[in-house]
Amino acid sequence: MLNIILMGPPGAGKGTQAKKIIAAYGIPHISTGDMFREAIAAKTPTGELAASYINKGMLVPDEVTIALVKERLSKDDCAKGFLLDGFPRTIPQAEALEKLTKEINRPISAVINITAEKDVLVKRITGRRVCKSCGAPFHIETLKPKVEGVCDYCGGELMQRKDDTLESLAVRLDAYEHQTLPLVKFYADRNLLHDIDGLIGLENVFKIICDIFERIK
Ligand code: ADP
Ligand code: ZN
Repeated sequence: MLNIILMGPPGAGKGTQAKKIIAAYGIPHISTGDMFREAIAAKTPTGELAASYINKGMLVPDEVTIALVKERLSKDDCAKGFLLDGFPRTIPQAEALEKLTKEINRPISAVINITAEKDVLVKRITGRRVCKSCGAPFHIETLKPKVEGVCDYCGGELMQRKDDTLESLAVRLDAYEHQTLPLVKFYADRNLLHDIDGLIGLENVFKIICDIFERIK
């Protein structure tokens, strides 16, 4: 069963790998970041609350995030597997997830941890631009769109996420180091952890992920 957690610091390439995985394996993509951004766009109460944290680069409080994932993971389409992207990000979230997956009998089968050094992450993130309409990622140096400011895929306008500025990024990297990094040990202790170097290239990272999935499927 592919009940997968995708982990890694902001900028390690999680989003790109998530897209490849869902295209190849057809499992639901549960991205807490995307869910929050949708809630913000729809101006729901959860969205308004989340925005006040996200725009500063801070983590949204655990109880809000856990409730969101609980609801999503219990839906029928997750019975055939799922890809958790950006969750858990704290030890309390991981503990809540462990309890929930037991209750609904959908245990985690692997944790994919994509790693990268801090200076690379900073370059990748501050140069990142995303399409307002379809969310496709670009980079001002390494992944330029054909026409500046315009999405190659849908013609939408490219923008910088509010939390991709240098100031918010410092807060996010700090949150990653202090709150999320302890999860590496948490999942290593449970024999679920697979570390992959995020600097070996998108296709190589994906190939390793596929190898892991073939072994646990
Ligand atoms: P990135 O991985 O590039 O930081 P995400 O899209 O995963 O971006 O998340 C964006 C923001 O949404 C985070 O910086 C955080 O504020 C919030 N968020 C996402 N997932 C969680 C989570 N599991 N717990 C708390 N906050 C979260
Ligand atoms: Zn687009």
